[in-house]
Amino acid sequence: MIKKYLYIILFIVAIVGLSFVQYQYFRIGLNLAGIQFNQNMGEAVKDIKDDLDPKNELTFLVGSAIIKDDLSFNLSQDSVQDAAIYFLDEFLREKLLQNGIKTDYSFRLFTKDSIDFLQSKKLNPRDEKVLRYTVVLDGYLPVLLEDKVMLELQFENVNRYFLSQLNGLTIPSIIFLIIIIVVILWVFRSFYLQKNLITDTNEFINNLTHELKTPVFSIGVATKILEEKDHDDERELVIMIRKQVSRLKGQIEKVLELGMIEEKKGFVERTELDLFPVLQDLVLSFDQLSKLDNFSFTSDLIGDSYKIFGDVYHLENAINSLLENARKYSKENGTISLLARKEGRYLVIEIEDNGIGIAAHDMKKIFEKYYRVSQGDLHNVKGYGLGLNYVKRIVHLHKGKIELKSVLNKGSTFIIKIPLVKDE
Ligand code: ADP
Repeated sequence: MIKKYLYIILFIVAIVGLSFVQYQYFRIGLNLAGIQFNQNMGEAVKDIKDDLDPKNELTFLVGSAIIKDDLSFNLSQDSVQDAAIYFLDEFLREKLLQNGIKTDYSFRLFTKDSIDFLQSKKLNPRDEKVLRYTVVLDGYLPVLLEDKVMLELQFENVNRYFLSQLNGLTIPSIIFLIIIIVVILWVFRSFYLQKNLITDTNEFINNLTHELKTPVFSIGVATKILEEKDHDDERELVIMIRKQVSRLKGQIEKVLELGMIEEKKGFVERTELDLFPVLQDLVLSFDQLSKLDNFSFTSDLIGDSYKIFGDVYHLENAINSLLENARKYSKENGTISLLARKEGRYLVIEIEDNGIGIAAHDMKKIFEKYYRVSQGDLHNVKGYGLGLNYVKRIVHLHKGKIELKSVLNKGSTFIIKIPLVKDE
């Protein structure tokens, strides 16, 4: 759970960080575009001055329009003025384009001490956002007008223009950022879907094994009874069924245990439950088995309820594993007992046998995965060395403890302690 939030926080930090870096690049890009624009304008101003300083067709037309001279052109004053504005505009547009400036502009040509003389049709209001460049003209026009003549170029919305120049940078980075976000969200989603699927599968395995165990156990008991009756012709068949049923039972238990090998998350699902009736059922079945298998079994469940926070399938299986071990590693006609009681905050379950016992140097190791005590030829008991490791892990997943007391050739006692729920 904590990991999940950590991933989400890291993801948000990374995306915010990446966006911030992109934003910084973007600002640098805008600055560079501004610097580039200034440089281009410097060149354009030079070119404009070169052509507007001397007397030529354009400056003559412009000059005539300003002094309202309509004699030279055989046109009305207004037409001369329109023509001058038109050609000046064309000229300026071309000079700007030659210097790499493609944005809209407006202009006005004016003298220092009087009102505007010529201006483009659309002129920007005098607001701050407009970028202005003033070209002081020398030569023909100032001489003609006997005053200082200036040409002002105005650029509105330069920021939008700079932005459009950065499109090659901003659009891909926004697209890639979106792709990263979408892919990561998609990975998150499939990760959690898969996790849910695993949890569902685990629940299914736990349920299924539990459901299979009861009929298998009943068949086992029934065949045992049949075996004892004297039907010589069917005896072999019955023995075969019993052997196969016992194999099947072992395999079902292994499915639960193998699921724990990988320490799959969600394999153990704990809920609040009363273990008392579960233990009652368990000792009843084991008691039936003891009668058929000729060993002695006693049990004592002290109290009437054992409320814990646990997974009933796995706890049942773990306790069953300990009982099975007690039976497997016992001598003929051995004695096995199960004792359960509440002790402080814990439910204590003791499983004791008077079997072959475990040597001191093996006691630490038998809880390790795949560890089996070598039994020599004396006890040819089958196993994978997984049972006790499984039991230990189940107990730890229940925040419990497991202890072992054993004396070689005398017997062993496995003690499980599981925390009780607080109000118990
Ligand atoms: P398996 O029984 O499949 O070998 P376990 O993990 O259940 O695997 O047990 C590991 C080993 O611990 C066994 O091989 C056995 O030697 C020893 N052992 C377990 N329970 C007992 C017991 N009640 N008495 C004596 N030895 C035991």
